[in-house]
Amino acid sequence: MKRDADLRRILHAIDGKGYKAYKDIEGQYKFDSFVLSIDHVQGDPFASPTKARVVVPMEKAGFPPDLYDKAQKNTGVCDFLARVFYNSIKKYYNSAGGTGKSGMLIIDRCGQEILARTSVVIDNSRVEARFEVGLPAQGRRILGKAADFIFSSALPVIAENSLYYKNIDAEKLREHVRLVEDQFFMREEIKKRGLVAFINNGAILPRESGVSDLPMKKGAVPFKSPETLEIELQLPNKGLIKGMGIPAGVTLIAGGGYHGKSTLLKALERGVYNHIAGDGREYVVTIEDAVKIRAEDGRRVEKVNISPFINNLPNSQDTREFSTDNASGSTSQAANIMEALEIGTSLLLVDEDTSATNFMIRDGRMQRLVAREKEPITPFIDRVRQLYTEYGVSTILVVGGSGDYFDVADTVIMMDEYVPKDVTVKAKEIASSTGYARESSEGSFFGDITPRIILKSSFPRGKKGWEIKPKGLHTLLYNKEAINLVNVEQLVDASQTNCIAVMLQYMIENILDDRLTLAGALDKLYKFIQDYGLDRISPYKGHPGNLALPRKHELAAAINRYRGLMVKTARINPVKKGS
Ligand code: ADP
Ligand code: MG
Repeated sequence: MKRDADLRRILHAIDGKGYKAYKDIEGQYKFDSFVLSIDHVQGDPFASPTKARVVVPMEKAGFPPDLYDKAQKNTGVCDFLARVFYNSIKKYYNSAGGTGKSGMLIIDRCGQEILARTSVVIDNSRVEARFEVGLPAQGRRILGKAADFIFSSALPVIAENSLYYKNIDAEKLREHVRLVEDQFFMREEIKKRGLVAFINNGAILPRESGVSDLPMKKGAVPFKSPETLEIELQLPNKGLIKGMGIPAGVTLIAGGGYHGKSTLLKALERGVYNHIAGDGREYVVTIEDAVKIRAEDGRRVEKVNISPFINNLPNSQDTREFSTDNASGSTSQAANIMEALEIGTSLLLVDEDTSATNFMIRDGRMQRLVAREKEPITPFIDRVRQLYTEYGVSTILVVGGSGDYFDVADTVIMMDEYVPKDVTVKAKEIASSTGYARESSEGSFFGDITPRIILKSSFPRGKKGWEIKPKGLHTLLYNKEAINLVNVEQLVDASQTNCIAVMLQYMIENILDDRLTLAGALDKLYKFIQDYGLDRISPYKGHPGNLALPRKHELAAAINRYRGLMVKTARINPVKKGS
């Protein structure tokens, strides 16, 4: 293997030459205490930066194996080291000056969530950091000495600070891993107790601003469970904690406007992920397959069976295979629910702020005005109980505007100046005492959840193969057509979007066979990743790019929003005319 001195020699030799000469440095170099692997050199100073790795053999890195022997702990360690690496890089960012991305040094940025990522990996043989570097240039002329500074001076210090156990704050690292363990434990424990979510007393739910995911700094009212819903959990590391357990079933979050309803629901949406210490939500957990449901008019829908909610549309379209290029508020929300059920979920999270009113409720008066056969929608209020009794799917919904839901709720929580109260008994009294009449329009059963088979021909090859490019958090470009993910609210990290692009490409090439259902194809993909790791689905050798694992639901959401999607469903009997 070449040595660090060889890299220096090349960099000095190509100093002042045209940018293409940087290609000469691709390869592996042995430094005193690590190996530098330059996997992919950028084509020009403006292109995406050069991909490189620092690989430290474990006998030098010295991390005790009990820190990373289980998948969840391993994720915790990698997340911690990525954060340390990121912080040690900051000092050197852009130190070289120059054109375009010259001198840039980056490693995947971690946010408030702790996600399984590819930026740092650790196992018995090595710890490895995957980063990117903007090779410096003035115009298109190579600044070889500046590049040499990055590799020979900056990088060894960064690696020294972040990839050697002896230089790391070991107690902080242990704390981080313990926290991750506790959060995994909590999600298992709530299931055993028949709960779907838990929020600890003292949790800080509000965020700094509408565009920041950091905790609110001043004036945040800490969460405090009502006594009736308070439970204790004995965590393996932190020990005893108390907080509010939300039971399975139908739960309403009621309360006046601006009293913190949506903030609570938002925290529950994010509770499917683990959070870092100091986030305020690190002991707020939701069952991991919970799905946020919202209206999303304008989205495409491909042959989804929305008949439990929508029937007898004016254009007499069969809603057991409902397709549209431009869904309405209610049909989009129905499709979002049915798609979540198709992948599998045990908890729906719904906020009135982002729901279609006519999908959510139809009160007694409106029922008297509009004859039942003239109303295609069976509102959610008439299906929410069946979802639980027939399919075991719970719902937590924010409703400040309609007391009709009192009839169907198991638990009613009222937010009162950011403090939750258990008002179940009172709400039930109100529901039974008044002479108000509302007819339930539910049929005898919820109806079927119809699996769909994804047709491979949905994804034609572009000129250079299947080109799926992520663009920020909310967009994927497939053969230049945009897939809009802005309403996929539990997608939280741009590296998840990167990962969806890579996963989709992998699925098209290796999994889709015109026989597997969407849920089956996802199972197969996630099994593969579990067995072989996220690196293996990346088309790039060595450096797999910046990937963070999304849940199946977010990947499915991207597929479902792709406008070219074609599916076939299990055979469905044709609708009888006039039925
Ligand atoms: P709602 O959905 O009930 O109308 P929101 O959840 O949108 O109310 O909250 C209204 C405002 O109150 C937001 O600006 C939010 O950040 C803030 N807020 C929510 N919870 C708390 C809290 N526990 N302490 C302080 N401010 C809060
Ligand atoms: Mg709200």
